[in-house]
Amino acid sequence: MNGLPPRAAPTHHIEVGALPVVDATPKFDARNATAAYLARINGAARARSDAYFEGGYWLMLVDLVWALAVAGILLWLRISAGLRDWIAARTHSRTGQTLFYAAAYVVLTTAATFPLTVYEGYVREHAYGLSNQNFTAWFSDFATGVAITLIASLIFVPLLYAAIRRAGRSWWLWGAGLVILFQIVALVIYPLYIAPLFNHYTPLPESPLKAQILSLARANDIPADNVWMMDASRQSNRISANVSGFLGTTRITLNDNLLKQGSQDEILAVLGHEMGHYVMGHILRALLLTSLLIIAAFAFIHGGFLFAADLFGAQWQVRHLDDVAGLPLLAALASIFFFLATPVSNSITRTSEHQADIFGLDAVRKPDAFATAMLKLSTYRKLEPGPWEEILFFDHPSGRTRIMDAMVWKKEHIRDVDIRDTVSPQ
Ligand SMILES: [Zn+2]
Repeated sequence: MNGLPPRAAPTHHIEVGALPVVDATPKFDARNATAAYLARINGAARARSDAYFEGGYWLMLVDLVWALAVAGILLWLRISAGLRDWIAARTHSRTGQTLFYAAAYVVLTTAATFPLTVYEGYVREHAYGLSNQNFTAWFSDFATGVAITLIASLIFVPLLYAAIRRAGRSWWLWGAGLVILFQIVALVIYPLYIAPLFNHYTPLPESPLKAQILSLARANDIPADNVWMMDASRQSNRISANVSGFLGTTRITLNDNLLKQGSQDEILAVLGHEMGHYVMGHILRALLLTSLLIIAAFAFIHGGFLFAADLFGAQWQVRHLDDVAGLPLLAALASIFFFLATPVSNSITRTSEHQADIFGLDAVRKPDAFATAMLKLSTYRKLEPGPWEEILFFDHPSGRTRIMDAMVWKKEHIRDVDIRDTVSPQ
């Protein structure tokens, strides 16, 4: 613009560049701050957390192979066909036959996977110092779980086979609809009737913390007038919280581990995240996306059954979809599908978790407390996975991602009076 006379700025127009620069930004680097937080967990603690979480990847494969082996034994040794014939000789009611088969199937498969269940749920958790239960207490929870599975199966399996008989080739759409319906029922009854079978829920005593939690709820239009505490320490030292339910049943729950291990700010940071799930309707989002996955699963199971029964049906003495002796094959195909779809189901959850993190940071404005709370989760979740490892295996963002999000948030709010003077880990 050489040669042009400088233009006089009109008095009503303020040139931003002409204002004196006040640098209110303390030197704060999100990347360095994140690295400083992550460096706090090192040595044996880091190695143990990594080993526990990475072992979980292999266990997914072991679970699949084990499930396929159990199904294979039931089919190839004709245990399934024999059971069907034995029941058919005793009752002529098809619903009765399905019901008895389903009960025997749950008992047989539970017994066949019991060694693996004990290893994963009891032995391994103790080896990593993550469980607070003795074997009796663990077994009691396990037995409760089996009873719930049995009841659900005795309702689900006869309905599934009724759908197969009535709907013919389009049975798989009805089957998917049935599973989706069961998911909705489970969402409604779980917090009210099932969770209390495993843990005790008591109102959190009045305290400044409770008042702050309820204030946070009101500010975010969450219709809860009480905060519940759950005795998660019965099972483990893991910290957690949730906001569950809808209509008249909304409740905010924090577990006693969070209460014992977390500072007041950390508790609020965690609850801000949980409130984000509620406000953003994540239960509905998960339900809709999972429903698509379930429909795809049933299409896979339908095709897989016809293919496998064509090849091996004569050896298994299982030929048709409406033959209840084919249930192990349906279950095996479901195991294969959901194993392969793990990165998809993980990503459905992980993306919601990321949104809830950002919501919580915006609502609570305590990025450093959020970061230290995330470090406390590292007892059971690897802090720094590779990028693909995080996409494939993580149903929550990794500790590194979550702390980085918090530090970026802090960097962008560093001029705000409530953030400027907060401690930074550098
Ligand atoms: Zn969450």
